[in-house]
Amino acid sequence: MIIVLRKDVKQDQFQEIVDMIQELGYHAHVIQGTERTVIGAVGSGRGKDKLQAMENLPGVENVVPILQPYKLASLEVKPEKTVVPIRDGITVGGDEVVVMAGPCSVESEEQIIETAKAVKAAGATMLRGGAFKPRTSPYSFQGMEEEGLILLRNARDATGLPIVTEILKPSDIELICKYADILQIGARNVQNFPLLKEVGKVDKPVLLKRGMMTTIEEFLMSAEYILSEGNKKVILCERGIRTFETATRNTLDLSSVPLLRQRTHLPVIVDPSHGTGHWRLVAPMANAAIAAGADGLLIEVHPHPDHAVSDGIQSLKPEKFDKMMKTLSRFIDAADRKLAAPPQQ
Ligand code: PEP
Ligand code: MN
Repeated sequence: MIIVLRKDVKQDQFQEIVDMIQELGYHAHVIQGTERTVIGAVGSGRGKDKLQAMENLPGVENVVPILQPYKLASLEVKPEKTVVPIRDGITVGGDEVVVMAGPCSVESEEQIIETAKAVKAAGATMLRGGAFKPRTSPYSFQGMEEEGLILLRNARDATGLPIVTEILKPSDIELICKYADILQIGARNVQNFPLLKEVGKVDKPVLLKRGMMTTIEEFLMSAEYILSEGNKKVILCERGIRTFETATRNTLDLSSVPLLRQRTHLPVIVDPSHGTGHWRLVAPMANAAIAAGADGLLIEVHPHPDHAVSDGIQSLKPEKFDKMMKTLSRFIDAADRKLAAPPQQ
């Protein structure tokens, strides 16, 4: 249920409403909008009729049921778009489009620093790189782990670019939070509910990728797991789904961008690298993602894709990334948005 408060609600009335929601067995999520304050009464408490009856309390404008199974992620609870602050004034979900670029895996100091400098020069806003890799084969490279995180931090020190990196398990949260500016939850973990709950408890933006077999509703329910634990800084990422088509690695479902926009206030970015699996398809689909209304892009870039330990085929060389960014800027203009500048060093 959504309890919509009157503009002139008094502090003691507000407190009484919150207490009553909790006594009925629900969590009271207070959402402060620019126009009005609403409280999302969320949970499996038994007392729907009593919640509805709160309409009669002083300070309450009206009480409306939330029709979607996801509550805090829904536009019903929060009609205004969420703008997620990252660091140094960079945000995701506002007027500016962000580009997160970098290698699939962190491989060496030289590789990550060279890539960071190149993507920054081309206009990227953030640096991505995996230190903990979820590989299909247990015999494939699994990531440099903490050594990789240290290299990412060195790259941030060298360029100022905020860091996006993947987390695979709850026990790594403390370690990864020391280095990362955004925690990435990969496609394979989109329904790892214990992990979602843990990242819901920290004060760090979370980039939640759609799974290869996740419906839009399931995707939003995963976001709901994070939001319901208190972390409101969730960014959704479309990265393609598995279909009968084998000519591409995944089928990049760009219709999810406007569709998500109709259902949620959370920012949505697109990953055309994993979405297509081929570097030649990345730039056209990046342009299309911006045209579809994406708030940003996640792009794999590697100085020597032929020698990359993971995802070389879909990685752009820095010069190709630079070319992509030049064309992309015209699509960003056409979408009436701006490219978020990387932090000043
Ligand atoms: C990645 O970003 O390198 C990655 C593993 O992506 P996904 O989880 O989308 O496969
Ligand atoms: Mn990858």
